[in-house]
Amino acid sequence: MAGTVAIVGRPNVGKSTLFNRLVGKKLALVDDRPGVTRDRREGEARLGDLTFNIVDTAGLEEADEASLAGRMRAQTEAAIADADVILFVVDVRAGLTPTDRAFADVVRRSGKPVVLLANKAEGGKGIEGAYEAFGLGLGDPVPISAEHGEGLGELYDALEALL
Ligand code: GDP
Ligand code: MG
Repeated sequence: MAGTVAIVGRPNVGKSTLFNRLVGKKLALVDDRPGVTRDRREGEARLGDLTFNIVDTAGLEEADEASLAGRMRAQTEAAIADADVILFVVDVRAGLTPTDRAFADVVRRSGKPVVLLANKAEGGKGIEGAYEAFGLGLGDPVPISAEHGEGLGELYDALEALL
C-alpha cells in the first residue's frame, strides 16, 4: 500500500464516481443532488500496478445552509490532513464556482501534493473548462471522465510520480 489519497472538491463534481471507479465497487453513493451525503468513505484503490488507500469526502444530510459550508470544510480539512496526495476534482462542464475556489484555497494552503482533475471531460469535451481550471494555480489539469473511465492513464502517470 503506497499511501493515502483523498478525493476533494465541491459537491456534484464526480468525487464518488471516481472513488467507485478506483475501488472497483460501488462503495460510495453517487447522487446528482448536491450536498446530499453521507459520511467519509475509505477503500483500497487499484490503478494499473498502483494500490493505495483512497478517501472519498462528502457533504452532509441536513439542508442547513449555514452549517453546510463549515462542516464540508471541516471534513475536507481532516481528510487532507491524513492524506499523502490530494485529488482535487472540478467539473469542466459546469465551470468553476466560488465554492471550487474556496476548496482550492484549502488544498493550496495544506501544502500537500495535489493532482488537479478536470472531470466530465469525456469525448474531449470541456477544453475551455480545463483551461479555466489551470487558473486555480494547482498545476496542469488532467482531463478525465470518472463516469466513462477516460484519462485514467494520465491519472496513473500523475499519481505514480507522487506516491
Ligand atoms: P460528488 O458529489 O462529487 O461525489 O459527485 P457524484 O460522484 O455523486 O456525481 C455527481 C453527478 O455527476 C452524478 O450524476 C454523476 O453521474 C455525474 N458524473 C460523475 N462523473 C461524471 C463524468 O465523468 N461525466 C459526466 N458527464 N457526469 C459525471
Ligand atoms: Mg459524493
